[in-house]
Amino acid sequence: MSSQEFELIIGWLYPTLMSTYGDRGNVICIERRCLWRGFNVKVLPLDQNATAADIRSVDLIVGGGAQDRQQEIVMRDLQGAKAEALREKIENDTPGVFTCGAPQLLGHYYEPGFGQRIEGLGILDMVSVHPGENTRRCIGNLVVEVTATRLAQDLEQMTGSKAYLIGFENHGGRTKLLKVEALGRVVYGLGNNGEDGTEGAFDHNAIATYSHGPLLPKNPFVADWLIQTALRLKYQQSISLSPLDDSLAMQARAAMFKRLKVSLPHVVM
Ligand code: GLN
Repeated sequence: MSSQEFELIIGWLYPTLMSTYGDRGNVICIERRCLWRGFNVKVLPLDQNATAADIRSVDLIVGGGAQDRQQEIVMRDLQGAKAEALREKIENDTPGVFTCGAPQLLGHYYEPGFGQRIEGLGILDMVSVHPGENTRRCIGNLVVEVTATRLAQDLEQMTGSKAYLIGFENHGGRTKLLKVEALGRVVYGLGNNGEDGTEGAFDHNAIATYSHGPLLPKNPFVADWLIQTALRLKYQQSISLSPLDDSLAMQARAAMFKRLKVSLPHVVM
């Protein structure tokens, strides 16, 4: 099959309610990297007008951050058949990247600093609590060593070195992982809660993270992992991705590692 015969549909969760700190950049990054390689790609907004069938039709899911108020609106909409469709997708290995507010909603619950607990979908075995309005938010640059076993192995195989993610965090909620595997270990920044050194979560093929950035343009190999995983699942064959010129992204990574004084051996720059 030639690349023009492949198509990926990116499902974008609540684009107008959930896209803080440039998280839409994750959608653009996946879209462009597909187009540059000649794949067809469509972006389908999964918002209040979407149906459960729309959610079932996507090959890849992106969910961004949100303010507490917007998270509440989303959770009022993401109920019943739509919630079940999203659960099915994630449990059937559809790859996805979920940032900040989005993973909080995929966990059991999110307790805002003020107001009522927002019940989540319980897909990820974790809970998030905002300790109160007078508590400092977790804000700043974030560097994470990927430790989720399968993902770490895949990324190392793709790039030839251990995977470190660069991002930017800005959250009040603190996440505690229960049985779900962490995405990684914090090298710089605060991550899930600023206490246990974990960052994000990884379950099936869902990447949950506090890294805005947006994450994917800063860590393009993760975008390629998502694309490759989505293609393999959809077409039941391994489709190799032609290399792209990521030299600018790699220079930006090197500059950030230097600025944060994070020296990492054998890292993809
Ligand atoms: N409302 C959540 C928090 O403050 C998420 C914020 C975000 O998505 N940036 O923890």
